[in-house]
Formats: sequence, structure tokens, C-alpha cells
Amino acid sequence: MSAALSTSPALAKRIAAREPSALVTREVDSLVSRLLGEIKVPFNSLGTRVLNQLSDLKRILSTDYNDVPALPEKPLLKELAQVVEKDIKQHISTYGSLQDLGRRLGTGAGRDPQLLGHLDNLFGPRQLELRAEPYTDGAGLSLRGFYCRADLGEKSKFVIFVNTAHHPGAVGATLGHELGHFIYGSLVGEKAAHTAFMEGAFANHLIEQDELFADSLVALAAYSPELIKKIGGVTHLKPGSSDDLFNRIKYAYDMIGPRYDLDLSKSKMKAAWRVRYLTSMAHFFKLRCALYKSAGV
Ligand SMILES: [Zn+2]
Repeated sequence: MSAALSTSPALAKRIAAREPSALVTREVDSLVSRLLGEIKVPFNSLGTRVLNQLSDLKRILSTDYNDVPALPEKPLLKELAQVVEKDIKQHISTYGSLQDLGRRLGTGAGRDPQLLGHLDNLFGPRQLELRAEPYTDGAGLSLRGFYCRADLGEKSKFVIFVNTAHHPGAVGATLGHELGHFIYGSLVGEKAAHTAFMEGAFANHLIEQDELFADSLVALAAYSPELIKKIGGVTHLKPGSSDDLFNRIKYAYDMIGPRYDLDLSKSKMKAAWRVRYLTSMAHFFKLRCALYKSAGV
């Protein structure tokens, strides 16, 4: 029997879910052009870098997050939600939020935040070390941060690197994401020789459970369940539904943008970066809605 004939219906459904139909593609295109209009990126004069970034945005918009196989299981998400509420939010109260912590890291202050010591105690035994520096050489800005196990002197430590050359909101999100890897390693198990780089693209996070778990930390810290209830969640993009999805993403952005002090329509940032930040916002928002729907957190 050929491989195609032996494909199970469930697998076929999953493959189909990853390949949007022509109608959905058209719906996504119209949604993308409206979103680009909102952030004042001219659709008719896009360079290669922006076009590459757009394919990531399109995958984020067309994927049904409720049906992503790598979405962490309900008990794990509930545990993470508890850690975000009881440990992370409590210990960043002096900074206000992850993005304020990101701003402090950008100015060189708060390099050894109390939060890290607390997470060390909770999830040790390995010590967590944070390096926060602006990095624009080589790969430069495209590297947002990474997380790795390193032997420093006698001790084996976890090192988190955060590129502070980014907008404070993005620095906060990167720090949250890398902390998510540390917590995932403690709760589920460490990957051998683990080094996880966070770069610009998010669509490839949809196939890795540890990446989605790390992003879930950021999504949970950014939106309360009450806020998600108020916005009303998102439904999967299907023919005729792009208006609804546009309105909800815009609503979420209007709520979150001022908190992050980020107005993509007025920003002097290059178009490719504005599209990247829009993509990350849409990704965290859609993920947050799926967490609420699947685990009630
Ligand atoms: Zn990662």
C-alpha cells in the first residue's frame, strides 16, 4: 500500500489544516492588506525582506491555533498559568510588567532582577544567569535572544541572552519567552545540549511544543483571561470571516499597543520590523485565545 493511501483521516485533516485553500488564501490576503494599511506600510512597494516577513504573518493568520498539535497539554498550561500569576507577575510588580522590565534591561538597570532569584529557588538547582546587551553586529537585530546551558567556571548554569537593541515591549517578550524555556525544562525535561535561538519568525514555533510553551508564558503575561473574554477570542479564518478577525486583532492591538508604548503606524521603524512586530502581536494574541479555549486559563 502506498504511503498516500495509508494516511489516516486525522493526519490528512492536520495536513489539510496546514495548507490553506484558495478561498482562505484570498481571505488572508485581504486581511493582510487591511492590517498593513493600519500600520501604514504601503502594500505596493514592498522589498524582499518585507515579503519574507509577510509569509510568516500569513501563516500565523491562516493557522487554526486550536488545532495545532504542538499546543501544550491542558495540565501543563494550567501549571504555567499559575507560575505566571503567582511567581512572575508578583516578582515583576516593582517593574509593572514584562515590558517595563524590558525597558529597564535596555537602560542597563535591572540586570539582576529579583524575579530571576525567585525562579532559581523555585525551579533550580541550576542557576539562571541573564545577559542583556544591545546586539547589532552580524545577524544583529534578527537575533532577539537565546537560552542555553553553559559551564561557567565550576558551575553549570542556564544563560539567557536578551538583545536590548529592540523596542522594550519586544525585549520583555523575549525575556518572557526565554524564561519559558527554563520553566519548560524544569517541568517537562531538558533537551540535550539545548540552545534555543529566538529569531524573527514565529510560524515555526507552531510545530515545537517547547517553543509554544515559551510563547505561552508571554501570551499569559500580556492578556488576562478577563481581557480575552472581553475581546471575545478568535475564530478560525474561513471564507467571509476576515472582517471579524481584523476587528478582533485591531481591538487587541488597541488595548495592548498603548501599554507597550508602541504605535506601529507612527513608528520610525523600518517596514520589515513593523511587519515583524505586527506578526508577533497577532501570534501572541491568537495563542492566548487558544490557551483560554483549550485550558480555561
Ligand atoms: Zn525559543
